[in-house]
Amino acid sequence: MSKQTFHIGGIHPADKKISRDCAIEALPIPPTVYISLSQHIGAPAKPIVAVGDKVKTGQPVAEPGGFVSAWIHSSVSGTVKSIGPRKDLSGKSVPSIEIAVEGDEWIEEVDLSDTLVTEFPEDNKAIMAKITSGGIVGLGGATFPTHVKLSPPPGQKCERLIINGCECEPYLTCNYRYLLERGEQVAVGVAILMQVLGVKDATIAIEDNKPEDIAHMKDVVAKLAAKSDKFRGIEIMPMMTKYPEGGEKQLIDAVMNRQVASGGLPISVGAVVQNVATAYAVYEAVQKNKPLVSNTLTYTGDCVATQHNYEVRVGTPLSFIIECAGGMPQDAAKVISGGPMMGRAVSNLDAATVKGTSGLLFLTAAQTKRAPATACIRCGSCADACPMGLEPFLLKRLALAGDLDGLEQNAMQDCISCGSCQYSCPASIPLLDIMTQGKAKVMGVMKARAAAAKAAAEAKAAATSAK
Ligand code: SF4
Ligand code: SF4
Repeated sequence: MSKQTFHIGGIHPADKKISRDCAIEALPIPPTVYISLSQHIGAPAKPIVAVGDKVKTGQPVAEPGGFVSAWIHSSVSGTVKSIGPRKDLSGKSVPSIEIAVEGDEWIEEVDLSDTLVTEFPEDNKAIMAKITSGGIVGLGGATFPTHVKLSPPPGQKCERLIINGCECEPYLTCNYRYLLERGEQVAVGVAILMQVLGVKDATIAIEDNKPEDIAHMKDVVAKLAAKSDKFRGIEIMPMMTKYPEGGEKQLIDAVMNRQVASGGLPISVGAVVQNVATAYAVYEAVQKNKPLVSNTLTYTGDCVATQHNYEVRVGTPLSFIIECAGGMPQDAAKVISGGPMMGRAVSNLDAATVKGTSGLLFLTAAQTKRAPATACIRCGSCADACPMGLEPFLLKRLALAGDLDGLEQNAMQDCISCGSCQYSCPASIPLLDIMTQGKAKVMGVMKARAAAAKAAAEAKAAATSAK
């Protein structure tokens, strides 16, 4: 089996896929959902419903708030109870729509049958309209609006679509289950994305710790390709099991042997990367007229008695999911939304899921205990592990000294917050926290500088036209 992988850094944490045999099961609908208006990268959506309105499942409840933004739909049928700030999983206030559930009445145009639809329209404008109005966002973690990612800037062209089926985060298995249980739908979603992007080649990249997915998808694609040319360019590529294989830049390096420059986008080297769950959501939007109102998350942890892969309506309170699963695991000391490497600690169990929620991970006290940090021994392990080719020991020193110029010169902004440096550090230095804070400061400076340059250019243009 091929050992395709990225070329710089990387680590090998235990994969802990203890929920891999759990088929996707629909979680019951909660009595109330809280739908965040800020659950994608970009401007928050603007509500288009009012308190007291009756809504159906799949009905739009908020419109995009800018170019980079997304439609948001009701994930249930019921009555809008309130619109206002509500605390997310970190305790930060985000604008949300509270809907009290009454039954589950869908908007009429949605096809809720299980029938696989493999034929899709030739009209790319019609497809893009469905992806846009369906509120599809990247489900690999970034939640970038998909219709924006499918619209390359003038002069740039996609050569290869890469579908991320690596699921390199330990513990998470919902993408594994998508490929195993909904592989046909994912493949149709991939073919639709290829047509929209105008590419003949697509790669579905799957780590080689998931041989069942690799074998199943090869079979699925071969059968579909035998019936239609639209599936001929899809290849299944086994990847080395290495973290962070599913990182966008790492995947492009591994599949195309091309490197995205600092600050550059994948399209600059001819690539567009989407996640398998996004391809499935595209299938649902285009072939079934179904907006993104639910997503799949892995409910897992060594202290969890029964593992699950749940399909959950967007806006479901985390506390409701825990209740359905039998209550808080006895030895749980910490809850993570997502995986252990890049997930976020949950401080508010009343927070609701968003489109991009991929996991609920329960860790024991022993698993969360950090050894006391000691002095850096200059071993270089963090630099060896960094998949972005950074020098975390140097960035740490610059960050602690508040040297923002030095951080920018040493590409702090390229950090992808993967945590590989911290995982590798024998001195237990909290490198990830330091990197995250350092990057936020540098990005703030860079954004302010770009805004000032834009304002100066506009003022100059206005002055010139006034002469
Ligand atoms: S967290 Fe940032 S600095 Fe650390 S290994 Fe990942 S990319 Fe490199
Ligand atoms: S891994 Fe830790 S101890 Fe080694 S150089 Fe990096 S920061 Fe220092």
